[in-house]
Amino acid sequence: MSVIIAREKLLREIERSKLRKVIADTEYFASMDPLEALAIHLHDHMCKRDHNGWCNWNYEVKDHNVHDWGRETHKKWLNSCKPLHDNLLAQNISVDNYLQILLLTPIN
Ligand SMILES: [Zn+2]
Repeated sequence: MSVIIAREKLLREIERSKLRKVIADTEYFASMDPLEALAIHLHDHMCKRDHNGWCNWNYEVKDHNVHDWGRETHKKWLNSCKPLHDNLLAQNISVDNYLQILLLTPIN
């Protein structure tokens, strides 16, 4: 197998892997409250702080996916996302659809 073919095969596998993650994340977010899903997604992609230190997000999550929305950091992100959430609903844009677009958008 040439190097070029091997590289193309690897790139296709990476794209398939990314797509599988997008599908898994879409199903994960669809199973929860839309505002909470929005807060989790936006925190994951926008928070630049250490989630175990400065931001404390990870200390407020039990068993990797049970979020305590009554704790300070989660409450802050939930409140920050509320205007966006309400604006989406006012424009008849479902949070699920909005999250799917965000999941497919590369963020560095
Ligand atoms: Zn964080």
